[in-house]
Amino acid sequence: MEASPSAEKPRRTRRRRKPAAKPEASAPAVLAEVDPNSGFVPLGLSEDMQRTLASIKFVNPSDIQRELIPPAMQGLDCLGQAKTGTGKTAAFAIPMIERVEPGAGMQALVLVPTRELALQVGEHVQMLSAAHPLRTLLAYGGTRVGTQLKALSDNPPEILVGTPGRVLDLMSRGALKFNNLRFAVLDEVDRMLDIGFRDDIRKILKAIHREHQTIFVSATINDEIRKLAKSFMRDPVEINVSADRLTVDEIEQDYVSVDPRDKYRTLLGFLRSENPKLVIVFTRTKHAARRVAEKLQHDGIKCMEIHGDLMQRKREKVLSSFRSGRIQALIATDLASRGLDVMEVSHIVNYDIPDDPSVYVHRIGRTARMGAQGYAVTFVAREDGKTLTEIEKLINRQLKRLDADWVVTRAPDAVEAEAKPMPPRRSEEVVNRDASIEAQGIQARRRTLGSRFRTARRRR
Ligand code: ADP
Ligand code: MG
Repeated sequence: MEASPSAEKPRRTRRRRKPAAKPEASAPAVLAEVDPNSGFVPLGLSEDMQRTLASIKFVNPSDIQRELIPPAMQGLDCLGQAKTGTGKTAAFAIPMIERVEPGAGMQALVLVPTRELALQVGEHVQMLSAAHPLRTLLAYGGTRVGTQLKALSDNPPEILVGTPGRVLDLMSRGALKFNNLRFAVLDEVDRMLDIGFRDDIRKILKAIHREHQTIFVSATINDEIRKLAKSFMRDPVEINVSADRLTVDEIEQDYVSVDPRDKYRTLLGFLRSENPKLVIVFTRTKHAARRVAEKLQHDGIKCMEIHGDLMQRKREKVLSSFRSGRIQALIATDLASRGLDVMEVSHIVNYDIPDDPSVYVHRIGRTARMGAQGYAVTFVAREDGKTLTEIEKLINRQLKRLDADWVVTRAPDAVEAEAKPMPPRRSEEVVNRDASIEAQGIQARRRTLGSRFRTARRRR
């Protein structure tokens, strides 16, 4: 068989993938232009809130904000679904801040799944309540409980943002008084109501006796969770602005077939060729995150790992290094897959494919925030074909197979392969994948894979 000409090229002449439009080059949609007919004015917000929004340059509401804020301002329960990076935090925080009365005790509780998210959402709430005389307390694990106990008794906050574990801890110490509580929010509601958190959430929500308003939001809410969520709500207004797809169009999504032994070299090739502004590399385990980070550091990539084995202070330090651009790559477990908002993240790598398809949606949603552009690539090993199909069914979209020049297609020890390149191979998984996608009614775009050594990547 004839060797593909590109297979003989020295591999160091890798062609740089033309990067997806740089995030900074594209004006985020809602920041783009003042629309005189829309803006936040028709949403019936206070002058204080409008001033705050203007000062932080929130000019036009996003779809979820336009749809969710009015019923929430009327005191109705709301179950909101909207894609990643489309402003769900402000969608619940604006009406919450508007409806909370200064000095009337703790009235609002916002629960989120991770400590990092508690910090981020808490800061967002503080930013949005700059013109309101309100206090927000953050309560999440790995921080001093004593400081929170003192704040709760000396200077009771109107709003509490926290993780379920720490909130339960404070409850068990008798430090939380819910008698004035009239606003409960679950951000990332599907995660909060999945098996891991469900009992804790039940305990917390049950402790709120008084009639209260509930707002639950997420980018992914399946039928089971929808039903369960509604059991905690009174006639909720359901808002779904995700249209027919769960992922935003601004994320270009590819996958590459990689032999597990070649994953690291492929990653390194990708990072060197792309030189992303900020990239998150997701691994399945803490151990893998640590190992990949160590290797990348050794190979000169500025990166750090983040996972649950790190001390909280270290976790926050790593994230702040990433936010400020001191490191280029964050090597993360799914700890970082939900909610984190770092506008400059331009690339996502699924080094290990996630088992749960909704996790894929959240992982890649760390890029392309608020109308920016993003790129996501998923490494798919032979045995991951089925998982990839599940993901494609959930997002109602087919990922493009990529034959880029940074994809390492031969194991380092395959000496024979150096001399005699493997013939093009269309794996069974890929064939079955197409058949099953078509069976699902999703039109599978026919791909002519041709040589696996072809370097050009077709662009949409
Ligand atoms: P989601 O929770 O839907 O993933 P976030 O609430 O984290 O999204 O918001 C994504 C980003 O968009 C944040 O940086 C936030 O400050 C910004 N943002 C939210 N609403 C607006 C708006 N109306 N105009 C401009 N930026 C906004
Ligand atoms: Mg969010």
